[in-house]
Amino acid sequence: MKLNKDIIIAIDGHASCGKSTLAKLLAQTLNYTYIDTGAMYRAITLYAIEKKIINNNKLNANKLISELYNIKIEFLYNPQTDRTETFLNEQNIEKKIRGYEVSQWTSHIAKIPEVRKFLVTLQQELGKNKRIVMDGRDIGTIVFPQAELKLFLTAKVEERAKRRYKELIEKGEKVNYEQILNNLIERDHIDSTRSVSPLTPATDAIIIDNTNLNIEEQFSLVIALLSTRFGQGIECLLR
Ligand code: C5P
Repeated sequence: MKLNKDIIIAIDGHASCGKSTLAKLLAQTLNYTYIDTGAMYRAITLYAIEKKIINNNKLNANKLISELYNIKIEFLYNPQTDRTETFLNEQNIEKKIRGYEVSQWTSHIAKIPEVRKFLVTLQQELGKNKRIVMDGRDIGTIVFPQAELKLFLTAKVEERAKRRYKELIEKGEKVNYEQILNNLIERDHIDSTRSVSPLTPATDAIIIDNTNLNIEEQFSLVIALLSTRFGQGIECLLR
């Protein structure tokens, strides 16, 4: 699909509500770059765990801040998986950052203003030429308030926990549903109440509650939106 101009698509929303699935599909359809900002917060969390900056269940925020400039995060193509994957200081960390321990700590790391400033600068750099679909929590409000299309995804927390539970079990992690549900409730709470860039829809975001929508339905909805706002006439739908 071709649009009548290059744009930025910002997708924000609650944890585990399918932002990345929709974002990847849109990026593929438009031939845009997909950027997963959650992976960047997860990468810093993994760094903190591996360097024992998180130790005995305690986070040393000052130490992490002083080491931020040792952290290099990149998204590189992996021909083996045919995907773009997350690298931390030259190491592929794509698998490691999706585990339960990293998920549990990331929203605590993401509350630190210096961490946010560091990553927002990097994200703005990655999107300076537009043609990106970026997902996260503050993309439409802070990173790209001028984004041409802003979506805010949400779904009932029980439904999100069910989806996440299935995903982790399929990956062979030992988790239980209650644990996942409580983790999502806690993450939503931390993300929505933090003092810096709390999770909230931009005033001009389109809110999509996907509790009862499958990915095809969400995708069709966004494609219809794109062709109304940025379409090149009826032929763009047929390409
Ligand atoms: O999107 P994902 O679930 O991978 O994000 C992990 C965590 O990173 C979120 O729960 C949130 O605390 C943090 N995050 C953020 N701002 C973003 C992206 C993620 O605070 N733009």
